[in-house]
Amino acid sequence: MEFCDECGSMMKADDGTWVCASCGFEKPRGDADEFVVTDDQEAGEVIESSDESSLPETDAQCPECGNDRAYWYLQQIRSADESETRFFICTECEHKWREDDH
Ligand SMILES: [Zn+2]
Ligand SMILES: [Zn+2]
Repeated sequence: MEFCDECGSMMKADDGTWVCASCGFEKPRGDADEFVVTDDQEAGEVIESSDESSLPETDAQCPECGNDRAYWYLQQIRSADESETRFFICTECEHKWREDDH
């Protein structure tokens, strides 16, 4: 529901415009719809952020600094036909490597 800025009467929707039934004053519609879209985008950004410290740890030797503890996770690389590859991230220097890189 919109009210006329000029005379305060109720306005009616006419395509993309609000039109006053009393004096004919017009103004564009659609402001309310844009606010809803903005809220959805902010919620999506929060979910994408990840925390490496929440990953599981295992015994694995870092090829970079020789540390023997690393975080690990599984990731599918190319297509769904191939098996998942295990990646390690050193707990000391944060070097990242694939399990099958020998
Ligand atoms: Zn009016
Ligand atoms: Zn390391």
